[in-house]
Amino acid sequence: MAASPVSTDVDFSKPGRQVGRLRVPRSRDDSGWGTELIPIVVVANGEGPTILLTAGNHGDEYEGQVTLLDLARTLQPGDVTGRVILLPAMHYPACAAGKRLSPIDGKDFNRCFPGDPFGTFGQVLAHYVDSVLLPMCDFQMDLHSGGTGMDILPSACGHALDDPEMMRRTLDMADAFGAPITMVLVEVNAGPTLLAQAERRGIVALSSELGGGGRLNPENLVITQRGARNVLRHAGVLTGTPQVGPYGPSRRMTIPDLAHYVFAPHDGIWEAADPLGAMVAKGAPAGRLHLTEDPDRHAIPLNYAADGLLWCARFAGRVRAGDPVAVIARDL
Ligand code: CA
Repeated sequence: MAASPVSTDVDFSKPGRQVGRLRVPRSRDDSGWGTELIPIVVVANGEGPTILLTAGNHGDEYEGQVTLLDLARTLQPGDVTGRVILLPAMHYPACAAGKRLSPIDGKDFNRCFPGDPFGTFGQVLAHYVDSVLLPMCDFQMDLHSGGTGMDILPSACGHALDDPEMMRRTLDMADAFGAPITMVLVEVNAGPTLLAQAERRGIVALSSELGGGGRLNPENLVITQRGARNVLRHAGVLTGTPQVGPYGPSRRMTIPDLAHYVFAPHDGIWEAADPLGAMVAKGAPAGRLHLTEDPDRHAIPLNYAADGLLWCARFAGRVRAGDPVAVIARDL
C-alpha cells in the first residue's frame, strides 16, 4: 500500500518532550492544499517500551480527552522509561465539533481501520495511525465513553482473543487500569475499530467505556486519570505499581453475545425500567417504547433476554428502530 500523506513535526526517535501536530490533507473549495492539524505529544527517555494512548476517537466522549490533556501537560521525560505517545484529540475535527461522527466525511472514525491512504479524511488518518504509530507500540489504549447516545458503567474493555497468552496479557492490563469493571465484550461491529486493528498487529491493547451522555462525569474522570497512569506503570514506562481504586479490584465481566443486548424494534421514545447499574433478570421488563405517531397504540414493552448487570443504558430519549437501549453484562 502507498505511504501515508500525513506528516508531522515531531521526531519519534528523539528523547525528551515534544508537543507537535499531525498534518492531515483536507482539500476544500477555497484551499485545495489545505490541511487539518491534530495535536500529538511524545515523551521519551532511554530504552523501554512504547505505549500509545488515544482519546477523542469519538469527539463527544470527554473523560479520556481531559485525562490525556492533563498527562500531556504534566508528564516529564525524567518520569519516563521508554516512550509515551499521546493523541488527546485523535479525530480532532469531531472533537472540535463535540460530535461522534466526522464533520468532514460523515464517518465514524472508529469504523475506518485499517484505513486507506487514498480514502476519505478519516480513512487517511486511520491508515497513518495503523501504519506509522501502531508498529512502534508495545501497548495501546484507546479511551472511550458512551457518547451522546449511551451511558456506560466505567470499564476497561478488551475483546475475547483466540490466543490465550494475549488474552491473559490484555486482562492483566485491564485489571491494572483499575476501573470498577474489566470487560470482555462482543461488539456490534468490532472489525474496523482501532482496538481490533491493534489486536491484529499483536499489540497488547484496550479500549474503555467511562460514562457517557455527552458530558464529562467528574467521578469517571478520576477513574480515567488513575487508570491512565496505572497502565503506564503496568507497561513499565512509569515506576511503581498500579493503584487500586476505593471500590477495590476490577470485577471481570463479559458480554458474550448480542442476546445480551436489547434493541428497539421501532422508532420512538425510550422509557427505561431500571437505572444504569441495576441487577436485572431474564424476562423482566426492560422498559417501554412510546410511539409518538399513534396515540391509539400501546407503548411496546421490551424485556431483558439475559440475567445480569445493566452495564449500558440508552441516554438520549429518542431512539430509532435497531438502536440498542440496554446491554447486560455477566461475571466472567
Ligand atoms: Ca466511543
